[in-house]
Amino acid sequence: MRCDCCDADLNDSEATAKFAESGNYVNMCAECRSFLPRDIRILLRSDLEYQTKNGKKEHEDDDQEWENHE
Ligand SMILES: [Zn+2]
Repeated sequence: MRCDCCDADLNDSEATAKFAESGNYVNMCAECRSFLPRDIRILLRSDLEYQTKNGKKEHEDDDQEWENHE
């Protein structure tokens, strides 16, 4: 699975993220998702989110704020 915007590989958390409104898969990496308007609600799978935070770090960006989309 790849990001619709920048073609980056999506991790499990990113690949399973859905729009709360439509239920459609977001198919965007965390970086591209951060550019979405704040009022768009994203559903993340918390179990995968946990793994991402405690496992490999693919993005070093400080402004990757997951909590904004929950
Ligand atoms: Zn992307």
